[in-house]
Amino acid sequence: MKSLLRIASWPVEIGVIAGTLLAFRLAVHFEMLEQIYAFSRAHEEWELDEYFTLLLALSMSLPLLLWWWNRQLSRANRLASAAEAEARRLSLLDPLTRLPNRRGFYRAVEEVTSGSNPALTVLLLDLDRFKPVNDLRGHEAGDQLLRAVARRLRRSCPEDAIVARLGGDEFVVALSRPGLDDCGDAIGRTILRAMQEPFVFDDWQASISCSIGIADWQRGLSGSDLLRRADQAMYRAKQAGRDGLAHFDPPLGEALREQAALEHDLRRALTAGEILPYFQPIFDITGRQLRAFEVLARWCDPQRGFVPPDRFIPLAEELGLIERLSEIVLEKACAALEGWPTDLPISFNLSPRQLGDPMLPYRILAILERHGIPGSRLEIEITERAVLADMEVARRIVAELVKAGVRISLDDFGTGTSSLAILTQLPIDRIKIDRSFIAEVDRLPERAKIVAGVLALASSLGLDVTAEGIERDEELAFLRERRCALGQGFLLGRPQPAEDVARLISDHEEPARAVG
Ligand code: C2E
Ligand code: MG
Ligand code: MG
Repeated sequence: MKSLLRIASWPVEIGVIAGTLLAFRLAVHFEMLEQIYAFSRAHEEWELDEYFTLLLALSMSLPLLLWWWNRQLSRANRLASAAEAEARRLSLLDPLTRLPNRRGFYRAVEEVTSGSNPALTVLLLDLDRFKPVNDLRGHEAGDQLLRAVARRLRRSCPEDAIVARLGGDEFVVALSRPGLDDCGDAIGRTILRAMQEPFVFDDWQASISCSIGIADWQRGLSGSDLLRRADQAMYRAKQAGRDGLAHFDPPLGEALREQAALEHDLRRALTAGEILPYFQPIFDITGRQLRAFEVLARWCDPQRGFVPPDRFIPLAEELGLIERLSEIVLEKACAALEGWPTDLPISFNLSPRQLGDPMLPYRILAILERHGIPGSRLEIEITERAVLADMEVARRIVAELVKAGVRISLDDFGTGTSSLAILTQLPIDRIKIDRSFIAEVDRLPERAKIVAGVLALASSLGLDVTAEGIERDEELAFLRERRCALGQGFLLGRPQPAEDVARLISDHEEPARAVG
């Protein structure tokens, strides 16, 4: 705008001066004054002398006009420069918190790192539990909270720190402290403490915390490289349980690269059909008769070999792939079931987040129907961690499945914090005692007491029981003595592929019976 005005003013001024000079030259050349004088004398009645005087007055005021016009233009130029500077300043600011935004942060980092003795530590903050505030109280409240966080963050940092908001609930602090190696850690902890204090507003309050990733600048790193490193460290802080801080180090970068490669391979494995169901036999403990199978997902990657479920199941949950993975495994398990010379049931694990999907029962029942398998041949294993997220939705899902004859078991019983509460909230048919209680149960009196207690509880509530992870004869004998009905474990049978199960079934002469 400013430059436009500047360009626009020049030709006018030059034109006026050139025009004046040309007019003067022509007037002299043609003896304009004498001509006008003669003409006006010849036409006295027209009173031309008055018009001429007016013209003269006008031409005398021309410099004044030019001066005024020039002044106006300079003023407009000044206003335009001020507006441009303001627009530039605003483009580097976050309008909600008035802190620098991502661009402002990059600009500040550039300034520091191009100095003579650059030293920079970056702390990337992501708020924990901010989303529920936004979802439950609305965006107004979310904005209010973000502004308060920005103020508190600014107060927790040294004067010379750069504090910026990157967007959403992400903030960044850059400290330029040559010679102070651990200043990031100390200030990070101050910030953690500050964020733990509740945020109190007129008629509501919020308790949040934050996770912080710390990275140090090194020569050659750009602002965005630095943020990426801090982000990776922050991700680790989140994984370690939130409300904490983590430092970037090269192995972390390596671990995250490996994680990204695993993600890529998992997506490929799902499409390439590399995820298969394995079946672990479940036996009647007293007579050692085959009673059921637990379906366990197995992934054999062409390069990595066997990837344990404890690695890829949480990853699939995180990537939102667990629904697909689960359907693939159940579909293949049901297809295998069709070819077995038995009507033994299978039990199938569900992940926590699946119990928040109201369509889940219909998808499970559709798979059963496609393979002509009645609901009574399926048992669903849920963990208490799963149902706690949204008990109402979980209750509806379970009710739909139960209506179709599906049985429900509570997996890893005793490892969570509210196993007992869930027994009263959901129509549970079976408890699976976690293998951490079964290991060495014959030698460790504390575990023996717990297992005996769970068996007594199940009996009084009329629930079936399966003991998991039986590895030794002594453990099996202990459970037999305590009249535990069913058991599974490496001692009795390892998880195996569908092809081997048919053989296992025919090895057991006992006619097939339903679980429980
Ligand atoms: P889980 O449901 O508690 O399954 C039992 C786990 O204990 C299985 O591990 C099984 O191989 C292992 N196991 C059985 N007997 C013994 C034993 O005697 N000793 C020892 N040390 N371990 C024994 P796996 O297959 O590695 O699965 C781990 C967990 O991954 C499962 O725990 C389950 O929570 C999850 N998982 C496996 N497959 C699926 C699936 O298809 N969907 C979902 N959502 N989760 C699955
Ligand atoms: Mg299980
Ligand atoms: Mg289990």
